[in-house]
Amino acid sequence: MFADVIIDIQNEKLDKIFQYRIPEEIEDRLKPGMEVVVPFGKGNRQIRGYVTGISETCDYDLSKVKEIIAISEKGVEIEAKLIALAAWMKENYGGTMIQALKTVLPIKQKENAKVKKRLRLLLDHETGTRQLHYYLEKNQKARARLMAALLDDEVLEYELVTKKLNITLPVIRALEEQGVLAIESEQVFRNPVKQTREQAQPVIYTPEQKFVIESFRKDYAEEIRRTYLIHGVTGSGKTEVYMEMIRQVVEEGKQAIVLIPEIALTYQTVMRFYRRFGDRVSIMNSRLSAGERYDQMMRARAGKVDVMIGPRSALFTPFPDLGLIVIDEEHEPTYKSEQTPRYHARETAIRRAQMENASVVLGSATPSMEAMYRARRGEYVLFEMKNRSRMQSMAEVYTVDMREELKSGNRSILSRRLQELMQERLEKKEQTMLFLNRRGYSGFVSCRECGHVIKCPHCSVSLSVHRDGKMRCHYCGYEQPRVEACPECGSRHIGEFRAGTQQIEEIVKNTFPGARVLRMDMDTTRQKDAHEKILSAFANEEADILVGTQMIVKGHDFPNVTLVGVLAADLSLYTDDYRSGERTFQLLTQAVGRAGRGERRGEAVIQTYSPDHYAIQASAAQDYEAFYQEEIRYRELMGYPPAEELLALYVSCEDEELLEKACHYLKEYILMAKGRAEVQVIGPASPGIEKIKDVYRRVIYMKAAQYDILVRMKDRLEQYIEINSGFDKMRIQFDFNPM
Ligand code: ADP
Ligand code: ZN
Ligand code: ZN
Repeated sequence: MFADVIIDIQNEKLDKIFQYRIPEEIEDRLKPGMEVVVPFGKGNRQIRGYVTGISETCDYDLSKVKEIIAISEKGVEIEAKLIALAAWMKENYGGTMIQALKTVLPIKQKENAKVKKRLRLLLDHETGTRQLHYYLEKNQKARARLMAALLDDEVLEYELVTKKLNITLPVIRALEEQGVLAIESEQVFRNPVKQTREQAQPVIYTPEQKFVIESFRKDYAEEIRRTYLIHGVTGSGKTEVYMEMIRQVVEEGKQAIVLIPEIALTYQTVMRFYRRFGDRVSIMNSRLSAGERYDQMMRARAGKVDVMIGPRSALFTPFPDLGLIVIDEEHEPTYKSEQTPRYHARETAIRRAQMENASVVLGSATPSMEAMYRARRGEYVLFEMKNRSRMQSMAEVYTVDMREELKSGNRSILSRRLQELMQERLEKKEQTMLFLNRRGYSGFVSCRECGHVIKCPHCSVSLSVHRDGKMRCHYCGYEQPRVEACPECGSRHIGEFRAGTQQIEEIVKNTFPGARVLRMDMDTTRQKDAHEKILSAFANEEADILVGTQMIVKGHDFPNVTLVGVLAADLSLYTDDYRSGERTFQLLTQAVGRAGRGERRGEAVIQTYSPDHYAIQASAAQDYEAFYQEEIRYRELMGYPPAEELLALYVSCEDEELLEKACHYLKEYILMAKGRAEVQVIGPASPGIEKIKDVYRRVIYMKAAQYDILVRMKDRLEQYIEINSGFDKMRIQFDFNPM
């Protein structure tokens, strides 16, 4: 037996892995992640290394392979745990050990330290408060917001102010010139909250919160480590619950990781954690440079922080004694990595927690099908939180059938109900958000008269129109010519659904002359910071109506928004993806939830051609249970995850002919290799986009009841691909349960 050993994990030398022979006496004990002592270099000096893999074959000249001297006895280090996790990820998601190690280990890169800036309030509290009132009177909203924040915390991180509080540079400069604040520089990342700060008010937990906290506390005290799923409506107090759980864990001298999708990592959320845990918290986000990221990882390793908050990659924080991993908004697709290894943070967190004796808490207002399915099967502990902690009521939702609008002669993209309510908002000086749902939009064909959508007869997902005029299924490759009339009602009003945010902006401007309209989509946010500028303009009430794509649904709270219009709710419903119903339900529920975050009750209008679809009905009724029951029936019927497991094999190549051939061989091999195992093979088909930059792409899907069957299939395919040089020209990737 031979072991792969990595010698240096400090620098960018992870690619250097050496093979050593394993002495028989330790063969049974040696596992990936273990630290070993090996002879190295010409003088065979003894150094330490980590085992990253074990194999029966040796890739080098056998006579030159050296032998491991011993397993290091100095206890398991955090690096060893992370390497063992990397080995698990390689096994379960595919790719190489190097790719897995690079994902998991903090990598030091040489670079110059960046200078951080911060703002300091120069006025005393009383003068500051007077100044705040002055800004409010003058209706200078941005200045007022900055002033209010500075009165809360007299030193603020510059980035927090610009990125999360949506304050622009001219506003900061103006206040600097007035002598209200100073812009200071500092070399290192520091907590913006003063250490002495105490929590403003003790929280009295609601009965629902209390139950969750107590159950967790009891389990933890009894050394029971589990995965918990908190299904709680927005505002039910989940974050408050996480913080209390973290407090308990930290009190025992352990550390916690909190994953929050970047877009939801708002100023308010960050501040709540700072207030509670002071400078024992560290925040990671994608704007940090590689060096800053590394420094934070090292601070965590050295025990200088207890809580790490960040997006997906924060999961690999090298805490010495990890006690808890929280994943907020666990349904978010950003928890799935798009790079090999294509891991899911939820599963990987659960694995890491098992290895390090920690607990996992998942939270969402609209849990993923996977999480809820596992919870119902008893794999996770399920908690329900149904009430908002501060008694705000949910928005009133109206569903408008757009087929009826057409029948009664309204050809506008805005229904009459929505127009009326928008007019009302303009008169009351309240704000409206119009959300064009075009996530994963892929050119499906539908009838404007009866709402019928053309679907694949085999896969039950919608067909997409291609440039050659044919309609195709992206799962199995089924194709048919384009239809001229609706097969259901015979109408000729059938075709590709087309609508863009720009068109909507025009229509809104024409319908409501004088209304101030902002648009947010890929086009208007191409420039750096454009995203923040648009949102801050809207937050400052410089516009009455914000038109946008799914970008506008998340993150920021706008208390003056009392109306949300969802245009073309169907667009995401009929994407060529088995998750389209789930995505639609989540997006609509979130969109509807944007209305009425302030004191006033909100209203929402959902415009649709399929008012009878369960995803639309359930989101209008804000009824998760109804949605889940329908959706799980569909998944079980069609054998899609979570009912069964799915493995996608992506193959791409510049030479289309060669690609076809390779896919043919791969499929043949799969059919042969599966033996008697229950594996269903689908495709090869073209994924959503057939060709990117002259590289052709294909996908083959494999379905099986157990994940392990697919892992074994992946292992065999990897071997098959490696020994056949014909595949050298291809890029081949595995994706388990793709999103
Ligand atoms: P979620 O994470 O479920 O959306 P939060 O924890 O953010 O909910 O709570 C929503 C709001 O209610 C926050 O402003 C929070 O401070 C407040 N809140 C939460 N729990 C309580 C409580 N027990 N008493 C008073 N306010 C609470
Ligand atoms: Zn029709
Ligand atoms: Zn199909």
